[in-house]
Amino acid sequence: MTTGARLLIVGPPGSGKGTQAQFIADRYGVPAISTGDIFRANIKNETPLGLEVKAITARGEYVPDEITNRIVADRLAEADAANGFLLDGYPRTTGQVAFLDELLAASGARLDAVIQLEAETDEVVSRLLKRAVEQGRSDDSEEVIRHRLDVYASETAPLLSLFGERGLLVAVDGLGAIDDVTARISEGLAERGIRAAE
Ligand code: AMP
Repeated sequence: MTTGARLLIVGPPGSGKGTQAQFIADRYGVPAISTGDIFRANIKNETPLGLEVKAITARGEYVPDEITNRIVADRLAEADAANGFLLDGYPRTTGQVAFLDELLAASGARLDAVIQLEAETDEVVSRLLKRAVEQGRSDDSEEVIRHRLDVYASETAPLLSLFGERGLLVAVDGLGAIDDVTARISEGLAERGIRAAE
């Protein structure tokens, strides 16, 4: 049995991390797990979780750690994540980092790398406004977008220095064609000895 990689992808909303997460996860033979997608699916299906988080996500705020940590623990307990995963949009707070560390340590596992997708604010705002029109995402009005970027800067960007201290960061320029960005990420991971699935 091969041991897949345990990866995170971090970047501001609109940096293209969802798209890259799918490509990278396929390439490395691990599931892409997006907490944002899990919340959106629950909101759409009007589940109890969806009803609980609907207003919070609509404001561009973070869902409380207890809720988010629980859904991640449940998802990582599924069979397809046993040998590796790519988490997209989690962890986003120091509390979530601590929770994930403990969760992995409990099964003798740890993170292999954290992909940092870099993108400038003006670029991501225009990408998000375009996506809001194309996909009808109600969480993407300009005011909410700016707020989400502020929350990212204050809550999530500081986590990057923490991962940097652990020597886990693979920083990649998120600007350019999707294929080029995917290639840059693969190169960065290969430099750390993390190779694609056969
Ligand atoms: P995303 O698509 O990853 O930007 O997530 C959409 C929204 O879901 C965010 O703006 C948050 O309201 C919520 N969310 C997703 N992931 C998390 C997380 N790790 N912690 C807290 N809230 C989250």
